[in-house]
Amino acid sequence: MNSPFALALHGGAGTISPALMTPAKEQAYQQALRAALSRGYAVLAGGGAALDAVEQAVRSLEDEPLFNAGRGAVFTHEGHHEMDAAIMDGRNRAAGAVAGARAVQNPIRAARLVMEHTDHVLLAWPGADALAQEHGLPTQPAEYFFTQHRYDQLQEALQEGRMRLDHSQALPTDEDPKRKMGTVGAVARDQHGHLAAATSTGGMTNKRYSRIGDSPIIGSGTFADDRTCAISCTGHGEFFLRAVVAHDISCLMEYRGLSLAEACRIVVHDKLAPIGGEGGLVAVDAAGNVALPFNSEGMYRASQTSHGAAAPYVAIYK
Ligand code: ASP
Repeated sequence: MNSPFALALHGGAGTISPALMTPAKEQAYQQALRAALSRGYAVLAGGGAALDAVEQAVRSLEDEPLFNAGRGAVFTHEGHHEMDAAIMDGRNRAAGAVAGARAVQNPIRAARLVMEHTDHVLLAWPGADALAQEHGLPTQPAEYFFTQHRYDQLQEALQEGRMRLDHSQALPTDEDPKRKMGTVGAVARDQHGHLAAATSTGGMTNKRYSRIGDSPIIGSGTFADDRTCAISCTGHGEFFLRAVVAHDISCLMEYRGLSLAEACRIVVHDKLAPIGGEGGLVAVDAAGNVALPFNSEGMYRASQTSHGAAAPYVAIYK
């Protein structure tokens, strides 16, 4: 089969600069991104479904404590982990999402359960974990999700008295609350021409009142439609919600016939940036073109396609 296939993923966007990184840390990020890419890409290369590829890539990133998703998720104001995730199937716009999950080891698997085993799209808080447990997904005690640096970030955020985007494991904090962002996500086009998107996050450090970001909201942080594109976002969720980022890109392609690159540029730079929305996204279109736009200083990202350069691409800075 000669149909092109492609995978792109992210591990968060924000003020990520070489000055805030050590060589060892940078290497650890690169390795983690590469590992997730190869796990998802192997699914596509073997003729598998885009849906499976994005799930596998995101699971790999969720299991890696470097990223703010699954193990390594940030802390809420009260010192818990409340994880959000969404997955969408471009074939039929089926979608599933969870918000505020505290125990399921891989929130992206719970999101897929919602899509495939319920009549619903979004389940929140105890219900999300209950569904996961009912279907035998592994759950973990709070200690599993604990990482010291996330805990330290919460203490700093509590002192500052504000919610922070603390999703990377960059070096010691400075005064800029937006210095660090994160979240993980993946998009894919498979050999059968189908698209899928998946996103998973711990949200924002010091979040409270059961705050939910853009990641589990279909059309804002996550979207897929075979006719246009698949998108997974990362950045300050409130702005991505207000700009309805992922669906807006799809609409520009569907209604105005724009290319993926042009639609992404308009939304990320002309619409999101002016309202203060810092971040980025990974995207793939129906032809297998990939776009990795961001308006922040950096974005942990990786992609690989069966066409073009074909070699894995991994990058962090602009
Ligand atoms: N968008 C996520 C949220 O606001 C965070 C992120 O992508 O870093 O929950």
